Amino acid sequence: MKKTIAIDMDGVIADVEKQFLNWYERDFGIKMVKADIAGKGEDDAFPEKGIVRKFATTPGFFTTLPVMEGAIEAVQELMKDYEVYIVSAAMEFPLSLSEKLEWLKLHFPFISWRNIIFCGDKSIINTDFMIDDHIKNLDYFKGHPIMFHAFHNTGYTHHTRVHDWQEVLTLLKSRG
Ligand SMILES: [Mg+2]
Repeated sequence: MKKTIAIDMDGVIADVEKQFLNWYERDFGIKMVKADIAGKGEDDAFPEKGIVRKFATTPGFFTTLPVMEGAIEAVQELMKDYEVYIVSAAMEFPLSLSEKLEWLKLHFPFISWRNIIFCGDKSIINTDFMIDDHIKNLDYFKGHPIMFHAFHNTGYTHHTRVHDWQEVLTLLKSRG
């Protein structure tokens, strides 16, 4: 039986960071880059407090997210050796449910609806591996957690960190 992997959406296959920076420039006329927000939390990444949450609750935010570089090819590659599940805590932003599904159909049409899990608390997830950017999900995971690099997790060192999808493949291909 194939081993199972839970793959998060935001910050892992969807580049929310790039979208935050693009929307911030669009709305405030200030161009910031990933290095400017590295090490900051989601609440204090930008001078305008709460703007990240405001963006994430704006209709169209999730349908227009850029795909994380290399994610489509890497997920297809992993599916050869693993049972891949897309696991997103979509209940936090209920409006995002249909947008996230639409986004997955557009960019990851090869993922079956059976392998899409929109949930609340991820501690219920019982796969062999979990790739996620948030330690709040990884800390309570019972399998092997893999932390996808993100601006808000640069200060944490207690999980295996991957910086991009190539590193995910290198790590998991050796473990399959
Ligand atoms: Mg995430």
